[in-house]
Order: sequence, then C-alpha cells, then structure tokens
Amino acid sequence: MPQPDTLHTRFKAGDLIMEQGSSGDCAYIIEEGLVDIVITHPNGETQIIASRGTGSIIGEMALMDQKHRTASIVAVEDCTMIQIRLEDFKRRLDASDPIMKMITKVILNRYRDTLSRVEVFAEASDNTAENRERKMAKAGKAIEHLKIGHEFKHAISNNELSLYYQPIIDMSTLKVKGFEALMRWNHPIKGFMPPNLFIPIAEDSGLIVAASDWAMEESCKSLNSLKNNCPSLDDDTFMSINFTAIDMLHPDFLNKLLAACQRHKINPAHIKIEMTERLLMNNPEKVKEMLGSCRNAGFSIAIDDFGTGYSSLSYLHHYPIDTLKIDRSFIMQMNKNEGALNLVRGIINLAKSMNMLLVAEGVEEEIEEKLLIQNSCDMVQGYKYSKPLPEDRIIEWINNLD
Ligand code: C2E
Ligand code: CA
Ligand code: CA
Repeated sequence: MPQPDTLHTRFKAGDLIMEQGSSGDCAYIIEEGLVDIVITHPNGETQIIASRGTGSIIGEMALMDQKHRTASIVAVEDCTMIQIRLEDFKRRLDASDPIMKMITKVILNRYRDTLSRVEVFAEASDNTAENRERKMAKAGKAIEHLKIGHEFKHAISNNELSLYYQPIIDMSTLKVKGFEALMRWNHPIKGFMPPNLFIPIAEDSGLIVAASDWAMEESCKSLNSLKNNCPSLDDDTFMSINFTAIDMLHPDFLNKLLAACQRHKINPAHIKIEMTERLLMNNPEKVKEMLGSCRNAGFSIAIDDFGTGYSSLSYLHHYPIDTLKIDRSFIMQMNKNEGALNLVRGIINLAKSMNMLLVAEGVEEEIEEKLLIQNSCDMVQGYKYSKPLPEDRIIEWINNLD
C-alpha cells in the first residue's frame, strides 16, 4: 500500500508552529491562514521579519539540511497546513532530476547563509550548552509573549474581557466613595490571566488602546448601574480607570473619554484617570499637555503606585494631579517598620500641603487601617474591605453593608 505523503495539520491563532533553534523534521505548505516569522536576537529581543499566507512554504530550510531552525513561526490566524515530512521529502529529492536537486540545495544554502549572518545563534564560541539553554529560555518567553499578544487581539471581540470593581472607602465616613475598575481576561483555555502579565503585552502590541476604549465605555456604564442599584452611594461617587502612556499619548484620548461620559451622562469630575509615576517620567512634556487638557475638561487625575517610581518629587507641582495613591508595598510595611510608617506620614502630609487627595492601596489588616486613620489618610482600598468583584457581586456587597 502506498503511504500518503501529505498530512493536514491545524493550528490556532497564537500557536507556536516552529521554534527557533529546534531541529527541522518537517515543513508545511500553508493551505489557509497567516503566520509570522519571528527571530530572537542574542539579546533576547524578538523581531517579526516576515508574514506568510496561503500557498507559502514554511520550515523548508531545516528540512533540507536538517540543521536548526533559524526562526520561529507563530500562527496569526487559525491555519490549515499540509505537512511535508522529512522522509517524504528525502524520497522525493532522491528521485528528482540531479540538476534540479543541486540547484535546490545551493539556493537554500545561500538563503540560510544570509540569514545566519544577520542573526541568531550567532558565534559558535557563544554556543555553549548553558548559553544555548539561556537563549532558548529567553526565546521561549518572548514567543509566549507573542502568542499571548496574538490571542489578546481576539479577546475584546470574543467577549473575553471583563471589569472587576474594587471599592474605595472614605476614611472619615467609612462609606464607599468610589471604585477602581480592574481588567480581567478570561482566556478560553488558560482561564483568568493576571493583568500584570497581559497589560504590558497589550501595550507592546498597541492593542491596549482598543482595550482601554472598551474599559472607558464599560466602566462608565457600570458607574451608572452601581449608583442606580445601590441607594447608599452618593451622587458624586467616582470611578477610577487605569491608563498607560500609549493611551494617554493617543491624540483622541480626551475626545474618546469625553464621548463615553456624554453617552452615559457622567460628569467628568466623577472619573479619575489613574496613571503611574513612571509614565510621567518617561514622557514629561506630551503627558503634561494631555493631562492639562483632561483636567480642564473636569477629569480627576491620580498618580498610581506612588513612591515606586524612584523619582524626585520635584515633578509633582508641574502636573495637574489631584490624587496620590500610595503603593501597597509601603502600607504592608507600616506596622513592621518605623521608616515605612514615617514615609507614609510624609506622603500624607505632602498630599495635604499640595491640596491633593490621598488613597492608601492594599489595606489588608485592621492595624493598617488604624494607623491610616490616625494619620488622616483620606481614602483606602484593599482586601480588608473587598477584593475586586464583578458588577453584580459588588452591588450585592454594598447593599449588604449596614
Ligand atoms: P494597580 O492599578 O495598582 O491595581 C491594584 C492591584 O492591587 C489590583 O491587582 C488589585 O486586585 C490589587 N489589590 C487591591 N487590594 C489589595 C490587597 O489588599 N492586597 C493585595 N495583595 N492586592 C490588592 P490586579 O487587578 O491584579 O491588577 C494589577 C495591575 O494591572 C494594576 O495595578 C494595574 O497596573 C494593571 N491593570 C489592571 N486593570 C487595568 C486596566 O484596565 N488598564 C490598565 N492600563 N492597567 C490595568
Ligand atoms: Ca490603579
Ligand atoms: Ca496601584
């Protein structure tokens, strides 16, 4: 019986089809779909060098000379491939016209030479087992990021994103004063992915802008819903939304935010724009301009993770900031470390002297709350009160408070 020499294989968008450095035992003809060819440089940086679609062959070089793969290949869309296996390839090559065989080998060897000059597992001297393992680990991580990036593309349209809300408590009344919207991605296979993982990846790919647009809309909608369903909430209850430098530097940022407020009839004074100190440090002039416009339009502006940006404080009065959020790392230490307590006191006094509001993040313990009340902190947020929860559960939580 003759053996079938092709095999259909399917890959989902985001799948790693071939990995740089691995040995090549097959090639594929793309029957349907799109892939990116990615190389990882010795410094760990990844670079997409080309895309290939229907009708292209991928992985042919390693198949030809059975050396390592010079690039990784990642599915950008769901793909159907026809697999060309090593043994089938060899059989056909051996049976081919000797001139054709020679020309094919020469062309492929030249192509590989050109590629290896520009990149990759470059010098033999640097190719110790240890180095190679380190590079592979780096490459693996980078590829994993690329995969997640590709998958995130579909997260919004597939309804995989959601917002959880964490209440922010007013220390003087112990009532809920506002909420922070925190993004969640329920990945179809991996389940809930931590935002600390997917937000930076979404930033790298620029997809954060679409995700933030979605978050603006969704959190405005939820602010109304929370107020309508919780009689104890004041009219001036606010919603804090996290933004990155890429969002803030988008020329339409303010217009989009204003449009979302208009659609949901929300006073911009009830929206807090949260951004980290680092964002200010890296793009001072442009961010200052955007923040000025946001402030003039009535939005509140908060510095997130305050104290972790390793910066001098001199920047503070240059920006139209009205809220500081002290990072959890200081709050955690307050009770154990006199220095941390003094630092928190110092930040509270600084905020007061500059007419800013202060939110302490990550309050978990009774003693932390007590110390913050003693030191006249305005607002707190943390697991002591509630973890971030979906809208319906936060409504339930608020309505069950006495
Ligand atoms: P963040 O803005 O500093 O948000 C606070 C983080 O601390 C949240 O983690 C929250 O769940 C967690 N947290 C709050 N209270 C406590 C506590 O008492 N103890 C402990 N251990 N943790 C507490 P989460 O939701 O995992 O978010 C992590 C980070 O991801 C956020 O830090 C923010 O930087 C980013 N992020 C989340 N959602 C968004 C978003 O919609 N847009 C952007 N650009 N970034 C987001
Ligand atoms: Ca935040
Ligand atoms: Ca924070």
